[in-house]
Formats: sequence, C-alpha cells, structure tokens
Amino acid sequence: MPTQDESEARSERRQADEPTADGPRTDGGTRRRTFLKGSAAALGATALPAGAAAATGRDRPTPADVPVARSEEGMVSSLHPQATAAGAEVLRSGGNAIDAAVAVQFALNVVQPHTCGIGGGGFMVVYVAEEDELYAVDNRERAPFGADPEMFLDDDGEALPFQERRTSGNSVGVPGTLRAADVALKRYGTMDLAPLVEPAIGLAGEDGPDVHVDAPLAEAIAGNAEVFNDAASEVFAPDGHPLEEGDTLVQPDLAHTFRTIRDEGIGPFYKGDIATALAETVQEAGGTMTPADLARYNVTIDHPEYAEFRDVTVRTQSLPSSGGLTIGQILKLVEPFDLGERGRYSPETYEILLEAFGLAFADRGAYMGDKAFVDAPWQGLFDEEYLETRRAHISPDRHALDTLEPGNPWDYQPGEPYRVTPVGPTGERGPTRDSGQTTHFTTADSEGNLVSWTSTIEQFFGSGLMVPEYGFMLNNEITDFDAVPGGPNEVQPWKRPLSSTSPTIVFRDGKPLMTVGSPGGPTIITTVAQVLLNVVEFGLGLRQAIAAPRVYKAAGDTILYEAGLPRGTRTVLSRAGFEFADEATRLGNVQVIYVDPDSGEYVGVADPRREGAVEGI
Ligand code: GLU
Repeated sequence: MPTQDESEARSERRQADEPTADGPRTDGGTRRRTFLKGSAAALGATALPAGAAAATGRDRPTPADVPVARSEEGMVSSLHPQATAAGAEVLRSGGNAIDAAVAVQFALNVVQPHTCGIGGGGFMVVYVAEEDELYAVDNRERAPFGADPEMFLDDDGEALPFQERRTSGNSVGVPGTLRAADVALKRYGTMDLAPLVEPAIGLAGEDGPDVHVDAPLAEAIAGNAEVFNDAASEVFAPDGHPLEEGDTLVQPDLAHTFRTIRDEGIGPFYKGDIATALAETVQEAGGTMTPADLARYNVTIDHPEYAEFRDVTVRTQSLPSSGGLTIGQILKLVEPFDLGERGRYSPETYEILLEAFGLAFADRGAYMGDKAFVDAPWQGLFDEEYLETRRAHISPDRHALDTLEPGNPWDYQPGEPYRVTPVGPTGERGPTRDSGQTTHFTTADSEGNLVSWTSTIEQFFGSGLMVPEYGFMLNNEITDFDAVPGGPNEVQPWKRPLSSTSPTIVFRDGKPLMTVGSPGGPTIITTVAQVLLNVVEFGLGLRQAIAAPRVYKAAGDTILYEAGLPRGTRTVLSRAGFEFADEATRLGNVQVIYVDPDSGEYVGVADPRREGAVEGI
C-alpha cells in the first residue's frame, strides 16, 4: 500500500481515462493535477464549506470542489459547517473524538433536522486507541412490542404503498440516537452530556448564532412538506410557506428539549414526559408504541464485521446492518479481477463492479436480517469456494447477467437456514422503497481515537411526524423491514430492521488508515465500496476518490449513476444489456478521515454533494 502522496502520483499515472471537469477524458491523459498538496494553502482551522458544485450549478463535483483539511491534533467532518464547528470546538477544549462526535450529532439535529436526530437511530463505530480496540455501538431503532409482521399489508394482503407506510405511526421505530450518545460518552468519552448539547441549544434557540436553511434542507422541506404533521409544518412551513434557502431556522421547542436533556440527562426521553409525548404522537398516527417500549430501549455493543482486501482490513457494522457483510462480499468478489489494471473508468471495471454488486445484493436480500432473530450464513458468504461459485458468474464479456439469483452459502458452512422462503431476484418484498438519505460524520483526536457514525431518521424528515412541543422529528425506520412477511427481514416485535448503514474504519498493518461512511439507503453499500476501491485498489487521492462518479445496482434494480460516468462506458454497457436510469442522479455523501501512515497526520475530506465541511484543529 503506497503512502497518500505515492497514491496520488500513482493515480495521476493511472488516470488516463478519468473524466475531467469538462467531461470524459479520452486524450490519453497527459495533464496533471495535484489535489491535496495544491490545496494546502487553504487548510487550517477554518470550516470549509463543500457546496462548490451546487453553488456553481454543476451537476457533478470535481476533485477541486472537495474540501480538505490536515491536522495532527484532531479532525471533524460532517455535512454542515456549524455542526463541524461544534465538534471542532469540543476537540479544542480538550474533549476527545467521542465527545466531539456527540456534539456534532446534537448540532446536526438542529441544522440538518431532515437527516438525523434524537428521534432516530444509527450505527457508530468507535476506535479506542488506548485499547487498540474497535466497538460498534448499535443504536438501530427497534420495532415496538406491538408491531406485527402483517401491519404493512392492506385488507387484500398486498403491501401498502411506500408513502402510506412511511407516514403511518407504525413506521416509527423506538429511537436509539440519544441512548447511544449517553452510553458512548460514559464508556469512551471524557465529558458529560450537558456541555455537549449546549452548542445545539444555542443553534436551536433564538439567542444563539443564526442558522440559515441551506440548499439541501430547502430542497428536503419542499419535497416533504406534504407529509408534515401540524407541529412539523409550524416549524418548517409556517403559514403554509415552506422555508427556503437562506431563511432563518429557529426551533424553540427543540431548544427546550435540549435544555431538559442538559439539565436532567436522557431520563425524560426514555422514561419521562418526552417518552409519553413521543408515544402519544406515534399512537395518534396509528402506531402502537408505548412509553414502556421507550423505557426498555438500550444500545448493543459488539465488534464490527471483518473483511480482508488486498493489504487492508475493512471493519464495518454487522447485522442488522448488511453493510459489513455486503461490502466485504463485494470486495472479495472483485479482488481477483485486478480492477486497478483495467482502469477506474473502463467498461470492464464497471461490468465487474455492477455484476458483483448485483450478486452481493441478491444474497443480502435472501439471507440477511437482525442477527438476534436470524442466523445469516456469514461464514458461507465469505467461504473462498462459495465466492468462487459466485465469481464464475462475473466476467467482462459484454453480456449482462440474465438473472441475479442468490447463491447457497449454507452449503459452505455448518448449520441450517433459519427459514427457507424463496425471495424474488430484487430481494425486495413489497413495493420498492425510496433510497433514503440521512447523514454520516466522523471525528478524530490527538490520542488517535476515531469515530465513524452514520445517523438516520431514514427518509428526509423521517415519518413527517414531529413530537408536538418537543420539536424533534420521528424516524420511519420500520419501513426498512420487508412489507411482505416471510423472509429474514420481516417485521417482528423488538426486532431491528435490516440496514445498509456502513460506518467503516479501515486498518493497514494493524493501524487505522481511514474512516468512511455515507447516507443513501442501499446505495450506501455501493458508495462506500467504491470509495474504498478508489483509494485502495485504484490508488486515487482522497479528493479524487470522493469526487469520482458513483454507480449503484442491486439485484434487480436499474443502475443508478452519477454525471461524469464516461458516456462511452455507459454506451458499451447498455449495449451489453445493462439498464441505466434515464437520468444521472447524486449518490451518497461521504465523509472521510485518512491517517497518513508516515506522519500520523489526519487528512479529512467532506463530500461536496451536499454543503458539508471539514475542520482540522
Ligand atoms: N434507513 C437507511 C438504512 O438503514 C439509512 C438511511 C439512509 O438512507 O441514509 O439503510
């Protein structure tokens, strides 16, 4: 594995087919660009907003749009400058990476309320340097005890349409974010909750710094106003007028809730007034959640999945997130194909990637669910002989695979399937869901601790339900279960829905190399896999790795792609039978902290696909 600088040199040599800012490059690639080094003058203690691509109206970011920071002392990267600043301030005041991550989470609840918050859940991977140990704090929402496998079916036994499921009280899972913040601080942090929620109180209330609606928030408000309950409309679309970009966002009820948390801790949320109001809101919308469900909630802590690829070890969340197993499988499937030699943007590379994505997603749909309820065949999925049977389907022969059926990993490991239920090639039971878009952030400190945290309320603004007088949005995570029961991801009481969330920390030679993660529902998996491949397989510099156009394919889905994917490659693959969406889209929002193996310096980047920011201290 080369150093970052070597990587850049290597990647510049290899980028003969890398698209330029003006479009796909076909001239043999003699122009040179330097990224990290060239931007050094812009580094330092200032949060650098990442909205350049959006601001200039370009439909895809270039490496130059990717904000970057370097520091030996600490780093914060999130999708909003005020949230990043809140975390950086904690680091400056002597807090560690876990303390900083909690401050970022509270601030994000205020400044990007459509993406995450105390009404949601997520997965947090923490590297504790002193112990040289990695922990996965699973704060996934759980189905309330009153949930029923058939609750998303209509009277004819058909799945309800997605939007109907999403806005029902039944879509709301018991939230885990606040419990995760509290537990993580007690286990790995150095500070109390109170000072870490303080910046968010300032941002939410009338007396603190102004918060202005940014373009992604304005777009999310406009796109979701019709699902808001009255409380949410009052805040985000007062008098029927959705807030627009640049408007001031004030959330006094949320400030009040945060003051309660500052003064009384998390008790009122899980066992007091807030729990009662939350359960009432859910029940009024037709759900079953009770205060007892909230009182019972706790996070689980275990070790992330483990996959070796080339000379790195990729550690990502385990089930109920499919991220760890599916990213690992994708990497193992493509490893022998030597994509690096085929070129990052060649049709062969994309053909191999898309077929590997499809095969891995077929297994995901057939076998994965909450590990407390379902025995997924994780040994078989990584068995080299099994992988060979799957790789036999992949070849860059200009013919898309006809069908992408799941394999049978149970033949390659002891034990019996939890349940044998045929599942369609899409792995989707019920009408297709939207792909969701939430948030990923990451922190690092001078001790070497790292946090990689993907936090979600599922869709933008979750279920559309705000808890009246408390000012926070409730998730719709329960729609991540299959609407139609019968498979490993059917709804069951107190079960966690299958996720794609993939907060990742990569190691080389036993030392942390980089954190990475993204929002985007199932596209998270392919986005994170591509960024990892960009760095480890293709040797791209970090800014190139983030800016490079992404693709997504599940077992039966049309291929989603970003602008910048060379048209020639798309044409060749379309002729080979790959079905691309009619238009390009944006996929994911990746925040990365890279640890320079030579100097130990942190290099942080934020994804310009939204208006994020990275700050070194
Ligand atoms: N609900 C999604 C999942 O757990 C994550 C949210 C998102 O779409 O980013 O897979």
